[in-house]
Amino acid sequence: MPGMWRAPVFSKPIFKYVMSDAPTTVLVVENDPDNAKLIQKALVGRQASAFLVECVTRLSEALERLRQGEVDVILLDLTLPDGHGVEVVDQVSKAAPNALILLLCATSDEETVCEAIQHGAQDYLVKGHVDAHWLPRALRYAIERKATEDALFEEKERAQVTLNSIGDAVLTTDLLGNLTYMNLVAEKMTGWSWGEALGRPLAEVFRIVSGEDHKAARNPAQQAIKENQTVGLASDCMLVRRDGIETAIEDSAAPIHNREGRVIGAVIVFHDVSESRFMALKMAHLAQHDFLTDLPNRVLLTERLFQAIGLARRHQKQVALMFLDLDHFKHINDSLGHTIGDQLLQSVAERLTACVRDTDTVCRQGGDEFVILLAEIEQAQDAGIIAEKLIEAFVEPHVIGGHELHVTLSIGISVYPEDGKDVDSVLQNADTAMYHAKASGRNNYQFFKAEMNTRAVHRLSVESSLRRALKKGEFFLQYQPQIDIASGAITGTEALIRWQDPQLGLVYPEQFIPIAEECGLIVPIGRWVLREACRQVKAWQDAGLPAVPVAVNISAVEFRHKNFLAGIALILKETGLKPTYLELELTESILMHDTESSKSGLEALKAMGVNLAIDDFGTGYSSLSYLKRFPIDTLKIDQSFVQDITTNADDATIVSAVIGMGRNLKQRVIAEGVETCEQLAFLRTQLCDQGQGFKFSHPLSAEDFGRLLGQGHAKTPG
Ligand code: C2E
Ligand code: MG
Ligand code: MG
Repeated sequence: MPGMWRAPVFSKPIFKYVMSDAPTTVLVVENDPDNAKLIQKALVGRQASAFLVECVTRLSEALERLRQGEVDVILLDLTLPDGHGVEVVDQVSKAAPNALILLLCATSDEETVCEAIQHGAQDYLVKGHVDAHWLPRALRYAIERKATEDALFEEKERAQVTLNSIGDAVLTTDLLGNLTYMNLVAEKMTGWSWGEALGRPLAEVFRIVSGEDHKAARNPAQQAIKENQTVGLASDCMLVRRDGIETAIEDSAAPIHNREGRVIGAVIVFHDVSESRFMALKMAHLAQHDFLTDLPNRVLLTERLFQAIGLARRHQKQVALMFLDLDHFKHINDSLGHTIGDQLLQSVAERLTACVRDTDTVCRQGGDEFVILLAEIEQAQDAGIIAEKLIEAFVEPHVIGGHELHVTLSIGISVYPEDGKDVDSVLQNADTAMYHAKASGRNNYQFFKAEMNTRAVHRLSVESSLRRALKKGEFFLQYQPQIDIASGAITGTEALIRWQDPQLGLVYPEQFIPIAEECGLIVPIGRWVLREACRQVKAWQDAGLPAVPVAVNISAVEFRHKNFLAGIALILKETGLKPTYLELELTESILMHDTESSKSGLEALKAMGVNLAIDDFGTGYSSLSYLKRFPIDTLKIDQSFVQDITTNADDATIVSAVIGMGRNLKQRVIAEGVETCEQLAFLRTQLCDQGQGFKFSHPLSAEDFGRLLGQGHAKTPG
């Protein structure tokens, strides 16, 4: 505390006398016995003296006595019979390094005295001025002064060693801001030595700049002096070393006070925080980025979307958000392994980033889902243009580990403010739109529409009802006969699913099959249809009714399911139906997608002995070349053509072309949706093999169809 003297911790023997009542041992080395006696008298003349006085007359005697120890003060004459001048001081101080040496000399000896003091003597007493009042006091003062000096030395030494041993750098300045002290760490970190830096302005030695804009940071010492309190530095402060190298530091400055409590300077303490600042930055980055692709993650995206919406609101702009999902990524991941899958995701991330501007944010949501934030767009259509560009960019394969991988994107777009006013609704609606892109055949983009949500709710309730229907057996099949146009005989039947919902009543497949396809329920439903149809046909056969094949509709999702082939084989085995009595109706889109694997699937079915039909022929890609490539038995002309054959010349041409083509390829041709006599008459002239439609029969219950089978034919062909 300024102005108060704190007792130092003494270590040298002399100091005990300052602090305690033990007598001080004084050795008088004086060859003049009168003088010696005078001194002795002056010190011990009183009762209960504080001094024990011993006298010797020669240097040799003095040294002998000092060797025994326990001498606190030596009163030393410099002209002894066996020693003279500073040489005497040297020997005595060597023999008693801790003792206080006071010279006994004449006034004329000034030069010798000065020299002797440099050699270890503390002070001098002028011979002849020794009296009982003055001498003990002089001695006491000398002892106290030495004690204080020793304590100060120790204190300074301790501070010096401490400051050079700690890891922090320490600088001090005077009131004007000029450097007064620096420790070793400060020398190392600033690149200045104390000797060079002393007296220079702090700003020259301790150059600090802001990590953000590199502008000079405020001087903490000046502030500490001005405010008379401890101050800290800005958190991103950088120290510029003398050679220009920068180090991140953290520091504080505090004012230094004098005894009166007035500020006389400042001390700055600082240390290198490069490592912890680097770690902190790294942690912050990890928290906001995806570890695999290093793209921003969901956390950062949400933050940026929030900012973008705020800005767009103020500037009356729009923000577009795109939800992207890789089509069939799971397939690649499962078949080629996670390492290839991960590399593909990294490659996708790069390609996406390359397609957008730096100001847009490409982020990975997780799995194979990415999101792109287009922060400021003029009109919603701009997002469509970018979506097209992305789809185009994914035509090129990704070359990974020697594989050429083709992936396509399903993209959903929602736009602020039209499709959502806040972060959550914009995100949610882009996601919904993406599901629609998936449902509409993948590899395309969809803008969000309000109906999508209504549909999504409807879809969800249908989905759960379908699960229940499957469990509770609410499905049943109807059978529609296929008729030989020439003879009117029944040549086969198509099994058509129906759903008897307790609330909705009878539900037709067009209302629930697309939903079952989207949610994957079509797989167990399709399996039920197959098993039931096979079982029923076998039952008719077993009942002695004429044997006709049953046609079962197969969805693309079922066909591509990995257990599809095994499932067919198992059902045939379980029901005991001969494979030739089963025909699978596939759509053109199944064949056009992934032609190689479709071909091998169809060939495996053929090898099993199952028949294959193309349903709704003419509505898809209708190419002659693929018809030849696949092992197809039957073509079913879509009812939309048949409907108009008598009124629309184009449709008539198409139908007759298909009939001719089927004949050439030795395929059975069935006209679907035959309703009128005119349609039937036209088909007959074109030599169409078979027909199916209300003209012959509506779909019938199993019981009714069995009865019809017993009669051998449907309505008489008219
Ligand atoms: P599809 O395979 O083309 O089946 C023929 C559809 O046309 C049936 O409708 C049938 O009732 C109807 N139809 C038959 N004759 C006529 C006619 O003369 N005029 C008109 N206007 N329509 C006629 P349904 O049963 O409603 O089935 C619709 C579609 O649902 C089917 O078209 C098929 O693609 C699908 N479907 C039906 N059952 C199943 C099934 O078990 N599994 C799968 N995956 N899809 C099925
Ligand atoms: Mg069909
Ligand atoms: Mg059809």
